[in-house]
Amino acid sequence: MSKPKKLVVLGSINADHVISVPHFVKPGETLSGSGYHIAYGGKGANQAVAAARLGAETDFIACIGQDDIGRAMKQAFAEDNINTDSIVAIADEMSGIAMIQVADGGENSIVIAAGANGRLDESVVAKFQQNIMQADTLLMQLETPLAGILAAAKLAKQNQTRVVLNPAPAQPLPQELLAQVDMITPNETEAKTLTGINVVDEATAQQAAEVFHQQGIQTVLITLGSKGVFVSEQGQNGQIIAGFRVQAVDTTAAGDTFNGALLTALLEDQPLADAIRFAHAAAAISVTRKGAQPSIPTRQEVAAFLQ
Ligand code: ADP
Repeated sequence: MSKPKKLVVLGSINADHVISVPHFVKPGETLSGSGYHIAYGGKGANQAVAAARLGAETDFIACIGQDDIGRAMKQAFAEDNINTDSIVAIADEMSGIAMIQVADGGENSIVIAAGANGRLDESVVAKFQQNIMQADTLLMQLETPLAGILAAAKLAKQNQTRVVLNPAPAQPLPQELLAQVDMITPNETEAKTLTGINVVDEATAQQAAEVFHQQGIQTVLITLGSKGVFVSEQGQNGQIIAGFRVQAVDTTAAGDTFNGALLTALLEDQPLADAIRFAHAAAAISVTRKGAQPSIPTRQEVAAFLQ
């Protein structure tokens, strides 16, 4: 019996507090900034928003604090058609935040407090095990505790739910987790951290992909920024599939948009090459706009872009 075409995203939610500064604040200095605003981010949230905005039926397993910003973010996700029943409000934690200084010239300096994201452990996964067991695909990143990620991956694998891991931010991973993964989507930095191979061209990308294949991962997609993606399936030769040429303004959430879009298309049973083209288009649109979640396009916008 085939499963409902449903995606479960498990991951982080952050409120990004962004302020423009003439230079990064020095020890002991009080500095006047400008343009302060709060943007909703976190890799999990960005990927869930991308998938839902592009038309995938999406459950989001995540943790917020019992605070106003947490409630506001949950409401915004619901308005993006995400199923927010699996977002847990933790009583004694604040919602995750990032404090971001943007200096003249565009460089960022970021401080993160994981807050409630740090509570997304096995107990939260157990609470929503039915969502994972009944889904077609589980999509995760690495901004929440590994114990929860591993528990979810095992549960998915045992129940024929495809396990997709976007291994960001870069960190070494236990073999036990990689053994559960069906598809992995690192960027070049993350591929290097996980394989030790410096991905600089097609040959080195293939070498890195082989390391993942040897760990039992069927499909490897190494995203290459403006150069596109290297895709490799177990037992076949890989290749680079170029992206779209656009005038990039802000690449925040490019990878998140790519992942959400890719899974949306795969859930519709599009062949991998078509799904990659769709994901390239969505991510290309996102880099022409500022910010994380505000930059993620709708289905109509991607369709118009591809015409
Ligand atoms: P991450 O944001 O995780 O570091 P990448 O930078 O590799 O990921 O980008 C992910 C995808 O976003 C790329 O495969 C491509 O589809 C798209 N992308 C990123 N940068 C650009 C760009 N400058 N122009 C067009 N597409 C881009």
